[in-house]
Amino acid sequence: MQPRDLSAHVEYVPGRGVEEVARDLGLDPEELVKLSSNENPHGASPAAVDAVRDAAADVSVYPKAAHTDLTAELAEKWGLSTDQVWVGPGADGAIDYLSRAMLDPDDPVLVPDPGFSYYGMSARYHHGDVRSYALSKADQFAMTADTVLDVYDGERVVFVTSPHNPTGATMAREEIEALLAGVDEETLVVVDEAYGEFAEEPSAAALLDGYDNLAVLRTFSKAYGLAGLRIGYALVPEAWADAYAKVSTPFAASEAALRAAIAALDDEAHVEKSVESAAWAREYVHEHLDAPTFDSEANFVLCEVGDGSAVAEAAQGQGVIVRDCSSFGLPGCIRVSCGTEDETRRAVETLNDVLADLEAPEA
Ligand SMILES: *Cc1c(COP(=O)(O)O)cnc(C)c1O
Repeated sequence: MQPRDLSAHVEYVPGRGVEEVARDLGLDPEELVKLSSNENPHGASPAAVDAVRDAAADVSVYPKAAHTDLTAELAEKWGLSTDQVWVGPGADGAIDYLSRAMLDPDDPVLVPDPGFSYYGMSARYHHGDVRSYALSKADQFAMTADTVLDVYDGERVVFVTSPHNPTGATMAREEIEALLAGVDEETLVVVDEAYGEFAEEPSAAALLDGYDNLAVLRTFSKAYGLAGLRIGYALVPEAWADAYAKVSTPFAASEAALRAAIAALDDEAHVEKSVESAAWAREYVHEHLDAPTFDSEANFVLCEVGDGSAVAEAAQGQGVIVRDCSSFGLPGCIRVSCGTEDETRRAVETLNDVLADLEAPEA
């Protein structure tokens, strides 16, 4: 027998892992600089690491109180009711919960192109029909209400990403409001703020009071440095009170992840340091890379290098892993995550060598 027809489904293409690349190159993983997955180069808050260690003693028990505790802390942080906080295994898990809550078979979903592939993947798992709106490179990938509304045709769910992955651009608050006002009442606008901590733009979460067709996604994977634990959440309309219990996978967020997230929330200094360090690295790449870059408010920079796959491969040969953006439909670009100062300097130096080599006429 076979699974159902998966021919329209696509695979998630992750940035390559350090161990994998080190093995290929015959190098020590310690010698590699991995700037391909937008992870926090400073790791997690030490308090979160301690919380994981402490949680180890209780792993035989299903997580319950920790889930309630994290939900309560997040509700307080955002000034919402606990019913409005949907904790899941990563923001990806929360996207699945939104798909389960929203989609009937064949319901259309509108996603950005280029954009984060999991929106479409999740919609397809849930028998949705995926359409896209284009962000234009010529226009610095600008995101306005009209960018979306020009192609919007009554879709059930519309995704926007701010700051956007892989472009780094933000969507202004007024534009998000114009989008919320411009779609049908029965269309949910999901604003994915996976990189929200790194941006000046305030969170769209403040709009949840005024609009009941908005959901906001946040994660502990990026600024909080907990990508390996898989913990994130959606903030949802007040009217959805009893939906979470009906769509969430029981105990999908682990005790260790929940406890680490609670500890990470309390360590504001670690988040601040991570945000400042990313801002420094962004500037450094903008100023010193010998290739055009796009303005970013996230912890990565999109760079136009001509042949993204050739540049990424050559850099990898020298121990610097960056993300080739072909899988995003941007074959001319690479995405460079913000590293520590040392990592960022080394990455830029390596990329500049690679760019010079690739440009040099063949001997
Ligand atoms: C990283 C990322 C996420 C999800 O992260 P999780 O690790 O699942 O929390 C969501 N959206 C975008 C745009 C991302 O880049």
